[in-house]
Amino acid sequence: MTTDRSTPEGDIRERIAAARKKLGKDLVVLAHYYQNIDIVRSADFVGDSLQLARIASEQREAGSIVFCAVSFMAEMARILCETRQKVFHPEPSAKCPLAEMAVIDDVERAWKLLTATGRHLMPVVYVNSRADLKAFCGKNGGFVCTSANAKKAMEYVLSRGAVPFFFPDENLGRNTAHAMGISDDEIFLWDPFEDISDTGVPDIAAKKAILWRGFCYVHVAFRPSDIEQARKTHGEINVIVHPECTPDVVGLADYAGSTSYIKSTVETAAAGTKWAIGTEVNFVNCLKADNPDKLIVPLRECECRDMSHVTLLKFLTVLENILEGKGQPEVTVDPEDSRYAKVALERMLAIT
Ligand code: SF4
Repeated sequence: MTTDRSTPEGDIRERIAAARKKLGKDLVVLAHYYQNIDIVRSADFVGDSLQLARIASEQREAGSIVFCAVSFMAEMARILCETRQKVFHPEPSAKCPLAEMAVIDDVERAWKLLTATGRHLMPVVYVNSRADLKAFCGKNGGFVCTSANAKKAMEYVLSRGAVPFFFPDENLGRNTAHAMGISDDEIFLWDPFEDISDTGVPDIAAKKAILWRGFCYVHVAFRPSDIEQARKTHGEINVIVHPECTPDVVGLADYAGSTSYIKSTVETAAAGTKWAIGTEVNFVNCLKADNPDKLIVPLRECECRDMSHVTLLKFLTVLENILEGKGQPEVTVDPEDSRYAKVALERMLAIT
């Protein structure tokens, strides 16, 4: 059957339902909360990175796993699933720009220079990262973290007398460090674009955390003025934001936490309460649709353009190709990277 952009949405939905029925239990569909509402409604499991990592690792029955999200998440499923299982991503070019802000050569260079100072460092990579960086952590005694467990991860490192070398999201690292009582003076920011050939090895003797200069363009778009405006417009409104937002925004908000934290906080709040939410707008719209007893508004309409590359039509194409046995690119990860990235992911699942 043909599919192109002119295929009516109603037909696409019907064909998705038909393909899903035929594939039965041999197929599992995982979707991130930031996917568009139609894909979220079609998925077997919807979650944030941590939840989806756990769910992917628990799938035993399905032979095919379709992961609707950006590419590093599909890679993570590939790493955690059994080799007999096939993992598909409807749009392999949907990459997270934050994940692309740290590349292995730069991280290895930083690691070499920073460890040469004699400080005991432990690498902690945010889940929004390429598989080779996760593998780097696996090889060097470190692990992966998500926004839901970044604090536990940093506490773990400090409890072992080490300094977290955290990459690639500076804001998540800084907000987490602040929540643990670590001040900006105690943080060293590694800038991968800075040429340190003149200044030499940095002085990190008194530092309690090393961060990487990387950011999420969706979450840094929120401004303190958005919070002031929401309070002016709606009076007694609760402001809840994601920790990839800048520290000034997190500092002004009433609550800050991962996507799953935002979801559970809003869902369990009393009917009639008002919420301005500072995270990706597709997720906010889903939450709004599912909680009609509350006033829910986006703090600002910020969409992840990269997540939106996965469309309902591309999702349908993957399903029909699986059904027809047509060759299509599976998600693959270099076996050596996969082995060590799995070590880093399993360490995360064990400590959180
Ligand atoms: S919202 Fe930000 S961190 Fe998440 S996938 Fe999009 S760009 Fe990456």
